[in-house]
Amino acid sequence: MKAGVLHGKEQILFEEVETPVPGPGEVLVRVMYTGICGSDIPRVNGEAAHYYPIILGHEFSGEVVETGEGVSGVRPGDRIAGAPLLPCMNCEHCENGDYALCGDYSFIGSRRDGSFAEYVVLPEANAIRFDESVPYWKGAFFEPITVALHGIRRLPFKPGSSVAVLGIGNIGFFTLQWLKALGAGSVTVFDINDERLELARQYGADECINTCDPDFAVQLQDGQGRRREFDFVYETAGNTATIKQTFGLVKKKGAVCLIGTPTRELTFSVEEWEALNRKEFTLTGSWMSYSSGFPGQEWKETAEAIRSGTIRFDESLLYRVMPLQDISDAFGMFRTPGKVKGKVLIQSGNQEGLQ
Ligand SMILES: [Zn+2]
Ligand SMILES: [Zn+2]
Repeated sequence: MKAGVLHGKEQILFEEVETPVPGPGEVLVRVMYTGICGSDIPRVNGEAAHYYPIILGHEFSGEVVETGEGVSGVRPGDRIAGAPLLPCMNCEHCENGDYALCGDYSFIGSRRDGSFAEYVVLPEANAIRFDESVPYWKGAFFEPITVALHGIRRLPFKPGSSVAVLGIGNIGFFTLQWLKALGAGSVTVFDINDERLELARQYGADECINTCDPDFAVQLQDGQGRRREFDFVYETAGNTATIKQTFGLVKKKGAVCLIGTPTRELTFSVEEWEALNRKEFTLTGSWMSYSSGFPGQEWKETAEAIRSGTIRFDESLLYRVMPLQDISDAFGMFRTPGKVKGKVLIQSGNQEGLQ
């Protein structure tokens, strides 16, 4: 088969490799689309790869073409999205269903070969079936959608509550949609980009605030000039400014979940940090999207929510769809800061048009 094989920093070559063979309990998938994830960029354009040569790619969809011995849950012809985590299933965390916390995990597309290829092999439990009415390209968005749902469930979110979402990248966008579907009383979104805020408005945000606006603080006041605060605050940008804003936006006894991962050193003044004492709010983080009954409800609910239209998205989320043979150019685009606006999908088959 053909694959995009990473041989070293910025050396991702379109070349012929052995087609993998499914072992017992595994399935062979003909890959349709794979999203380039933020985590892939330092692996290709930097030195973050675990080893060379490796085939990356972990946000993917495809068609099951062959099943190994003992596979009963999926059949050739099934449309599937890949859940990339391969936990050990033996440790304390795996026994509790907290698979993402496993200390001895493998991962399709970073610790073993992934889907920047014509075919990929994965255990049947990692192959999430989705309905024929859902186009394949949407299957490459399962992972961010499950990450958003897992993040929401890290807090004791209740219908009717007031919620703030910081950052309207893809995770923020799907967090907003889940919150509305789960019955949030109001969702206020914060971003620095008016286009993203407009998108959020179209998808049900009750209020959109641009934190670059000079009157941002005024927009956040209630009728008495007091700063409004929220029951639940979800940070999805991993940005120093937005992480710090969560401490101000949460109500006393409220809760904050950091879904975005920080990329820079982060400092708090004593006064800022003291809000955690004075407000007695709960602060937690979220990691990946797995829960009891591997890979967990997040994945089943995502398949159903896309089918039913509870979670909606269209081609406007895509920046480019590029054929596998152009994978090196695709990663090259990320070397120009700010150039790539939206998801880049790698198309493994030679189908015409988005499918
Ligand atoms: Zn990813
Ligand atoms: Zn484990």
